[in-house]
Amino acid sequence: MSTAESEKYVYYFGDGHAEGNAKMKEVLGGKGAGLAEMTNIGVPVPPGFTISTGVCTYFYEHDKSYPPQLQQAVAENLGKVEASVGRKFGDREKPLLVSVRSGARASMPGMMDTILNLGLNDETVQGLARSSGDERFALDSYRRFIQMYSDVVLEIDREHFEHELFALRDRVGAQTDAQIPAESLRELVATYKNIVREKLGKDFPQDVNEQLWGAIGAVFNSWHNQRAITYRKLNQIPDDWGTAVNVQSMVFGNMGDDCATGVAFTRNPSTGEKKFFGEYLPNAQGEDVVAGIRTPLPISKAQVVGDEKSLEEALPDVYEQLVDVYKKLEAHYRDMQDIEFTIQSRKLYLLQTRTGKRTGFAAVKIACDMVDEELITHTEAVERVEAGQIVQLLAPVFDASEKAKTLKGGRLLGRGLPAGPGAATGRIAFSAERAVAMAKEDAVILVRIETSPEDIAGMHSAAGILTTRGGLTSHAAVVARGMGRPCIVGAGHLKVDYSKGELRSEGHEPLEEGDWLSIDGTTGEIIGGKLATRPSEVIQVLIENSMKTEESETFRNFHRLLQWADEIRTLGIRTNADTPNDARVARLFGAAGIGLCRTEHMFFAEERILRVREMILARNEAGRRKALDELLPFQKSDFEGIFRELAGMPVTVRLLDPPLHEFLPQTEAQISSVAREMNWGFIELRNKVNQLHELNPMLGHRGCRLGITYPEIYEMQVRAIFQAACDVKKDGVDVHPEVMIPLVGTVKELQLTADMTRRVAAEVMKEKGVQIDFLVGTMVEIPRAALIADKLGEIAEFFSFGTNDLTQMTFGYSRDDAGTFLPEYVEKKILPKDPFESIDQEGVGQLVKLGTERGRSTNAKLKVGVCGEHGGDPDSIRFFRTCNLNYVSCSPYRVPVARLAAAQAELAAKAYEG
Ligand code: ADP
Ligand code: MG
Ligand code: MG
Repeated sequence: MSTAESEKYVYYFGDGHAEGNAKMKEVLGGKGAGLAEMTNIGVPVPPGFTISTGVCTYFYEHDKSYPPQLQQAVAENLGKVEASVGRKFGDREKPLLVSVRSGARASMPGMMDTILNLGLNDETVQGLARSSGDERFALDSYRRFIQMYSDVVLEIDREHFEHELFALRDRVGAQTDAQIPAESLRELVATYKNIVREKLGKDFPQDVNEQLWGAIGAVFNSWHNQRAITYRKLNQIPDDWGTAVNVQSMVFGNMGDDCATGVAFTRNPSTGEKKFFGEYLPNAQGEDVVAGIRTPLPISKAQVVGDEKSLEEALPDVYEQLVDVYKKLEAHYRDMQDIEFTIQSRKLYLLQTRTGKRTGFAAVKIACDMVDEELITHTEAVERVEAGQIVQLLAPVFDASEKAKTLKGGRLLGRGLPAGPGAATGRIAFSAERAVAMAKEDAVILVRIETSPEDIAGMHSAAGILTTRGGLTSHAAVVARGMGRPCIVGAGHLKVDYSKGELRSEGHEPLEEGDWLSIDGTTGEIIGGKLATRPSEVIQVLIENSMKTEESETFRNFHRLLQWADEIRTLGIRTNADTPNDARVARLFGAAGIGLCRTEHMFFAEERILRVREMILARNEAGRRKALDELLPFQKSDFEGIFRELAGMPVTVRLLDPPLHEFLPQTEAQISSVAREMNWGFIELRNKVNQLHELNPMLGHRGCRLGITYPEIYEMQVRAIFQAACDVKKDGVDVHPEVMIPLVGTVKELQLTADMTRRVAAEVMKEKGVQIDFLVGTMVEIPRAALIADKLGEIAEFFSFGTNDLTQMTFGYSRDDAGTFLPEYVEKKILPKDPFESIDQEGVGQLVKLGTERGRSTNAKLKVGVCGEHGGDPDSIRFFRTCNLNYVSCSPYRVPVARLAAAQAELAAKAYEG
């Protein structure tokens, strides 16, 4: 017997009591859980019921049909709503109207469609007019309903309706919908019904039950519309979670001037500032604010610019109710909330609450402030900031003096609302498709009148987003914040003309597609042309010393949060750095050593490359040694710089790894110049180069294979490492080199190279009379090495998983060529993610786990780390923590992300282990 028979599918909320609560997001979706919780804590919510996500799952598993008992359950709950409100669904005198709202587990802004005023038909609309005493309002509700229902359920393009609405507004000279008189609305309703008849060949449904089930079906169907699929993919939301459906009695924000609808954040979602913050529209219905059709008004006096009238001033008593409610909600959820409300005849109703999306800036500030307010603990603060978001605090801003100059020079085109902080410069694209295409060449600023869910891909590829319409809670603002894109909205003084492909601002030449534009998402300034950026405050304080700690709250919060993370995490964080400068940056970001110092980059500098070429091309060992002797001082000084920079911290130096051909002269001109320098004939040299050519160099003569066939190369490197270490130590600086052998696949390879390393190290230490504390270890990047890790563990003192090569070789994907098919693989769900970005836990990850276990089985003290790109990826870090690695190593700018992610991984592991 299936559990479907006994499962509860419908949950009621209303009159101070709900069958669900905040913890039931999986069953009720985020919206349903929020409505239930608000009802339970005494916040005014119109009564209704939630059809569970289980029905969505059932729907897709049963050929789009419903569980048999659903019909009955819906009818019963509708009855409860009717009793509560004192109106009946479909009644000619006092009709109950409902909204039908989707609501997935994770909020998906604008992805799923809501229908308002359902239950209206030619008869009930008259009942509504009579019972409310307001015919205009009844007709306004009806025309909205026909349009929404036609769009979402009947799939008639809303353009047809909007076209008529705009034309009507022009005809009657109305600035807003609220000014259209009743008789014109009656005409509009008739026109709307004609459109439906024309497009569909039948009448707009008059049966209210048909309307209700049509809407419910449309919500479930919309789970698989293209916009929802795209959003889920970008945000990694599983397809099989499903959506719930909320059916809720209507309250009306469009019944007159003491009515309104709005959205608000309990704190500022862009900056995190602790100020109630929001927007509303008088005499309107919810979708009007969200859709950005009219630019809404500010909620509080403090937000007012110019002569707008805030809610605080227009309806002070209601504003006070709202303040009470938001404080109650924030204290209850102990997090910043994003709320949606409607005011009907001076009475406030909450329609939604959820954890507010925020920028990285706001996330860090809110977490720190809430710790100071004793609302949350350090641990909760660490859990609340998405690790990847913290890089926003490192993103560039415009150079203040450069910007001042452009402003003086008259390049300021206008201002809009700062919706996503950060500076962006790019070429103008007027459509999402163009943005995607142009972003392949240059940075792009997507410029739109407003954005809609169809634009997501374009927004994703843009460096910044500018809209001329809509408020801080419009689609563009919400999505840009989620993506961390600099964004300005509601720049009403600028005019976008799609047909001419122009952006106009009075007193300026119009800009066209491809022209440069700069936007400051922190201040809202829009500037013509390209504008230089400068480092963020965090960089200025930490790296450049050009700003003081006291001057930057952003830096102080960044620093505090990461310190709390450090108290939690057990996983060490190192960096991949090849130069003293990179090492310094990483150290300042909190890296505790170098996990990968590549030596090959050091060979490319001008004075060195020739000697490297001489070494490779030498006719015999003597020639090779001579060139190596000349290279040694260079290498030694490189290592000295790094050792001094990382005083006392471990530094893993990888011996030469890439195929030799990377160093060879390629062009005829290069060959002839090297030939001259080396006193060789051109032909002779070219033959030698050809002879060294490899078909698959990445699988060819590289890594320890070079160290074994040309032992003098590795010997020179080891000598340089230890000479540098001894000299630095003599100066009183503590040094801990860790020599790492790359590309080991057999025991003997490691044995030979490790023996040589230890022998040369001993020789140098004896010559210098200095004792160095060092380790010898191996990369584990060939699958075979992971499989024989127990034997390698007997020789190596540490392992470092080179997960880039390990991924390449385990999958058999060439990293340089995988771009041709990997995107399609991810698209077709052959792979959940690009395995070069996030570790493939099922396969490659198992080699990491097994290699670690086997290595430690013979060497309990074995130190194990990761040095691939995955070391800076939060999901991969979570996985590596479960493998009990000692550290991850990542590029310097990812170090803060890794610190935070490692703390979160620790908390997750602890929660899992109980
Ligand atoms: P979204 O998921 O796109 O935010 P919602 O289901 O929250 O869609 O609906 C959008 C808006 O419609 C709400 O913010 C609210 O203003 C309005 N709305 C929804 N249901 C009702 C209702 N029962 N009464 C009044 N307004 C409603
Ligand atoms: Mg919507
Ligand atoms: Mg909503």
